[in-house]
Amino acid sequence: MNNLYRLQQIELEQAKLRSDELAINDYNELRNIKANFACKKDAFLRDKARLEQFTAKQHKLSSEEGNLRARIAAEEKELYGGTISSPKAVAAKEQQINSLKNKLNKCVSDAANQRQARVDLEIALEAQLRELSAIQAEFNAKKELYQQGDERRAAQIAVLEKERKKLLKLIPDAFLEWYHSTNNRFEGAPLAKLNNKNVCMGCNTIVTPALARKVANAAEDIVCCEKCGRRLFIEEE
Ligand SMILES: [Zn+2]
Repeated sequence: MNNLYRLQQIELEQAKLRSDELAINDYNELRNIKANFACKKDAFLRDKARLEQFTAKQHKLSSEEGNLRARIAAEEKELYGGTISSPKAVAAKEQQINSLKNKLNKCVSDAANQRQARVDLEIALEAQLRELSAIQAEFNAKKELYQQGDERRAAQIAVLEKERKKLLKLIPDAFLEWYHSTNNRFEGAPLAKLNNKNVCMGCNTIVTPALARKVANAAEDIVCCEKCGRRLFIEEE
């Protein structure tokens, strides 16, 4: 009976280790880290695309600035070239040049703003990249830890399995038959110890002295706890 009880405890332990293998929490944690990474990566890629738009806009502003400067130079050359005689035409030309200069100023200030925005975005992108690689490192470290846990559990199961196979050879067939047929009904624990205070260790109930005597003299008879129905046995020293 000691051997049968040991078999039961081994199988319970193995079942527990196997259910740990699923490690639902670990799995969820990894999935969350992965989702977080994907989300941050999307944001990073969006910002990177914005950076390209910034570059295009900077080029546009810079060529616009060049055009305006050329036009102003041409107009001024005409104005100071002495070819325009009427004061009215001179005033009109001056006004035109002023308007071009206003445009140029706006263009220059837009370009400065754009440059600053670009610098800010580049700094933000670097920070995002650092964060992404930190998340990646966290994911890899956790994954490795979980894999190590799985390997450790597999090794423990294998050790228990060796002992289980040895026990199967030592336990009489009749005991095994009874054990396997009632196993499911008691969620893998159909056998319970009766301790020296007459307590059924399956349900923590004190059994009657008469029942305890029956258990002590049971030999191969099946004596069950009146409360939980588990087969009782007294552990041999
Ligand atoms: Zn009981």
